[in-house]
Formats: sequence, structure tokens, C-alpha cells
Amino acid sequence: MHHYIIQYTNRPLGESGEPCKSEYDFSSACNTCGTGAVLTGNLRVKGFSKIKKDFFETLDGDYIISKRLYGKIRDSFKGFTLLNVIDMRNKVLVDYYHLTAKNVLPRFQQKSNGFVIEKQCHDCKRNGYFNHAIIGDIKQNIPTIVSPLNFIYKKCDFESIENSMILETWECAGLSNKIAKGNFVIRYARPWIIVNQQIRDLFDQEKISNIEYENVLIE
Ligand SMILES: [Zn+2]
Repeated sequence: MHHYIIQYTNRPLGESGEPCKSEYDFSSACNTCGTGAVLTGNLRVKGFSKIKKDFFETLDGDYIISKRLYGKIRDSFKGFTLLNVIDMRNKVLVDYYHLTAKNVLPRFQQKSNGFVIEKQCHDCKRNGYFNHAIIGDIKQNIPTIVSPLNFIYKKCDFESIENSMILETWECAGLSNKIAKGNFVIRYARPWIIVNQQIRDLFDQEKISNIEYENVLIE
């Protein structure tokens, strides 16, 4: 069974999570930076009223799918459940579901590559991962090239997880900030989301656009 890192390739839409006062549990999070904070209950969002997409990412890095797409997944995989998002008044937005994983993979193998690490928290070393890009030059017709992510795992990393339809990485993309200070608002770096072949096949079948899949390498 293949697994893929998914990335949204279009402009993010709407806000979610920390700026919308979603609630998080910190029992397994880093005391210093907050990475590893786990959302409790429904994801709270803002600015969703005009969004009509089957799949998108919010400005805060959360993935959302439509009621239609959720229905298609449920038709094929009975036990599969996701939660609706809620608005600032705690009203359930029935047209949107938060695409999130219930299980976290162990750390990827050290020889994984295709990313850079910047301003990582010294305590947890779990955040600060960024896509690596070689910046081009439009005038000289040199395109910007984003390196593919090569995340390498052992086969048993996947086998030990009961349901690996959707997983998240232990490593988190971007910076975390547990306490607002100066220009820095509260933010918890998000993990990468990994889906299995069955989810990818269904997304392909439903012609889900603005999504890029990168094969997870399993040895
Ligand atoms: Zn930390």
C-alpha cells in the first residue's frame, strides 16, 4: 500500500484554529513552543461563507473537505469519520469537514530529505521544517523549483498503526509560538498529512484539484 504526503497548491482560504479560538490539549505538546498541541473537539473557523471547493487549505494550515467529498469517502469506507467545522458562534457548518488524522507516525528516518530546517525549537526539535525551494528568476526565465519531499519510513512504522488511511507526521511544518509576543501571534506548527492509496484513488476519481501527492518512501 502506497502512502502520499498531500499539499494544497492554490491560495489558502479562510481562517481556522488559533486565531479562531479553537481549543487545544497540551498534554503531549512542547512546553516551550506548543508544537504537538492537539485540537480538542471541532475546528473553529472564520470566513468560509463563500468557499465552494471540495478540498482546500486555510491560511492557518488546516485542510478542509466538502460534505460531498466526505460523503464519497464514507460511501466507500464505513468506519471513516471526520468532524464538521464550527463558526465563531459554535454553529456547526454542515458543508465542511476538517480533514485530519487520528494517528501520528514516528519520526521519519534521518536520511529523509527535500526540506530545510529553520528557527527550530531547541527543546522539541519537532517544528521548523520547511519545503526547500531554489528560487528562480522570471526575467531570465529560470523557474522556481520546489524540491520533492523525501520522507523515509520503515515498513513497520505503518504496520503498527491500525488505521493508516490518514496519518500525520511527527515533524511539523513552519514555526510555533505558544505565547503572543510583539509581531508573533499564537501558532502551533502543523504536521504534514499523509493519505493512503485508497484515499488518493478516491480523490483522483472525484477529480480533486489543487492537490499534490508525494510518495512516502518505505524501506
Ligand atoms: Zn518546542
